[in-house]
Amino acid sequence: MPDGEMSTACREGILGREPRLTIFERSRPGRGAAATPALDVPDKPLDEVVPAALRRTRPARLPEVAEVDIVRHFTNLSALNYGVDNGAYPLGSCTMKYNPRVNERAATLEGFRGLHPYQPESLAQGALELLYTLEGWLCEIAGLARATLQPAAGAHGELTGLLLMRAAHEARGRAPRRIVIPDTAHGTNPASVIMAGYDPVAVSSDARGGVDMDRLREIVAEGDIAGLMLTNPSTLGLFEEHILEIAELVHGAGGLLYYDGANSNAVLGISRPGDMGFDIVHFNTHKTFSTPHGGGGPGAGPIVVGEELVPFLPVPTVEKRDDGTYYLDHDRPRSIGKVRTFYGNVGVLVRAYAYIRALGPDGLRRVSERAVLNANYVLAGLRDLFDVPFERRCMHEFVVSATPLREHGVRAMDVAKRLLDHGVHPPTTYFPLIVDEALMVEPTETESRESLDRIVEAFRTVAREAAEDPEMVCAAPHTLPVRRLDEASAARKPVVRQRFPEDEGAAAS
Ligand SMILES: *Cc1c(COP(=O)(O)O)cnc(C)c1O
Repeated sequence: MPDGEMSTACREGILGREPRLTIFERSRPGRGAAATPALDVPDKPLDEVVPAALRRTRPARLPEVAEVDIVRHFTNLSALNYGVDNGAYPLGSCTMKYNPRVNERAATLEGFRGLHPYQPESLAQGALELLYTLEGWLCEIAGLARATLQPAAGAHGELTGLLLMRAAHEARGRAPRRIVIPDTAHGTNPASVIMAGYDPVAVSSDARGGVDMDRLREIVAEGDIAGLMLTNPSTLGLFEEHILEIAELVHGAGGLLYYDGANSNAVLGISRPGDMGFDIVHFNTHKTFSTPHGGGGPGAGPIVVGEELVPFLPVPTVEKRDDGTYYLDHDRPRSIGKVRTFYGNVGVLVRAYAYIRALGPDGLRRVSERAVLNANYVLAGLRDLFDVPFERRCMHEFVVSATPLREHGVRAMDVAKRLLDHGVHPPTTYFPLIVDEALMVEPTETESRESLDRIVEAFRTVAREAAEDPEMVCAAPHTLPVRRLDEASAARKPVVRQRFPEDEGAAAS
């Protein structure tokens, strides 16, 4: 945001304050908490253990902190963190649902946690069975033939899927270059297309928020179509109304259809990409099938494919013998190869297995029904305050526009920051790009009616405050340990080095 666009209050909120966090500079010379045990191996001369050239000449400079201070340091830090375990987290597109604790327990069972990737297959039968079973479930949920569990995230699944597309086209003796992507797509879609060596072509959205079919027909008529990537429900939280027609059009032009399934939380057990004609689907298990994923922690982006693409799946696949034992099949001559070390983020896959197993088909369907109901409930509570760009029933998330607050000088970012003061994690802002001042809200199925009411109430309070005291809203947050941060500098010039108070003192004097 250029400086000129900000009100004075906004600018002060960002630039006018020193960071109040000095909790990292706790080291004081001579303090310590370490108590090393007595040596219980033969005491060899140091020269025999580490050659002199490799040894430090001075001790490493480490923070010197007493035990009580370090315990308080980390305990206080953990209390500064906001997560789905603290409160509502309606961050659209990210599906921040509650993660059942039993999944964590399953993932830390010794048989999974202690498994070595080079363990012989005969000693890893349980893990292989789990991966094999999970693959079968994902195929059933997607309505497709086989899957690979290797990709480590949704974006990685996209890249893998596009490489499979390329392999399939090559096998057909073709080399088309263009992949069509709606203008509402997540940024990873065009990025993956470029990484896979294809050319992205954007198709605009129509007045109802779906793919503009006239425009799509024009693009397809221009030829050279390798495929289309569609997110359904879209990042506007809308179910694509022309899906069968789109599938027919793209297949008719020789293209393949990729379904970005990051929003599957809306459609589990209700509709299946395979039945709609899609060839490739990715799931974000860390979104749809629960895994804590704030801060970019490990995820899994399995992709599920139709019969034509099965020969090209990454190696190894997990297979079952007639005698009921499982093995890893590396002998797949048409495979695109490996896309990740070993078998993917198995701990995340264990969580997905536990989640699906606990809920079963009916439970998964209820998840989606509840997610959609909750989003519509919150939308109904906000309709009169914000602009609703597409007047349709939303799926698991919705996008409203904060343009009505512009007359007070208040922007979507200010709403997001002020919501923090009211104890609600902000929605996604300024995405999708086609909605001015976008606020994208995804309450998820795990919020109670009371919690949904609190979310609505927080938004309504902020909208009222925007009219009554816009300067205050523009300077929010007021109650958090840090105020508005310069997010660009925080990302580009992060301070991650330990600083020592005695150095700062020397510099000041
Ligand atoms: C989250 C998301 C992605 C990317 O998934 P990652 O697991 O973060 O790589 C892709 N598309 C959509 C619609 C998403 O919401």
